[in-house]
Amino acid sequence: MNESVTEGYVKYTADHTGAAALAAEVSGWKELDKARTRLYGLGLVGALPNGVGFGNVSIRMNDGEFLITGTATGGRKALGPDGYCTVNAVDIEKNRVTSSGPVKASAESMSHGAIYLACPSARSVIHIHSRNIFDGMLRDHYPCTPADVPYGTPEMARALIACVKEQGGSRGMVVMAGHDEGVIAWGGPVQEALDLILEVYHTYN
Ligand SMILES: [Zn+2]
Repeated sequence: MNESVTEGYVKYTADHTGAAALAAEVSGWKELDKARTRLYGLGLVGALPNGVGFGNVSIRMNDGEFLITGTATGGRKALGPDGYCTVNAVDIEKNRVTSSGPVKASAESMSHGAIYLACPSARSVIHIHSRNIFDGMLRDHYPCTPADVPYGTPEMARALIACVKEQGGSRGMVVMAGHDEGVIAWGGPVQEALDLILEVYHTYN
């Protein structure tokens, strides 16, 4: 299936093929799923009353592929293998995301892909939403993407790449100033990215 999504929250061309869930076979997935449930419990990943989900988590596989939470899964406390899909390729220039699995890829797959591209040692990426953390990090001058760059766009992907490269190192965090309440963290093991998020959660709550 190949569809160009111009409304809702997926802004890129999503080229998705339905396939069986393979999350359970991916090394580190259980840890990722557990981290997501924990973030859900803290309200950092979830769904708004109107059903629109926010926040997503991913883990690097191989050959430039990664496993990410599916779109419209935010409202579920525990996801399990069916809540994840494989992003096979991210083409920032063509604004296209190719994925396969039981659910379509999260709207912010391109942002996750940009981080994996910019930081070869990153194994996991966590994107959360929080008013307190977002405001606090901006106030304290954490690295951020420009305020006029919206989520889910090639511009956001390029801005993230610049931010990640500027920070160097295998872990870090960026405030997505043009994506209200949006913060994204990456690390080696899932726990490393999770710890970064938990640290700012405790600082600003
Ligand atoms: Zn977001």
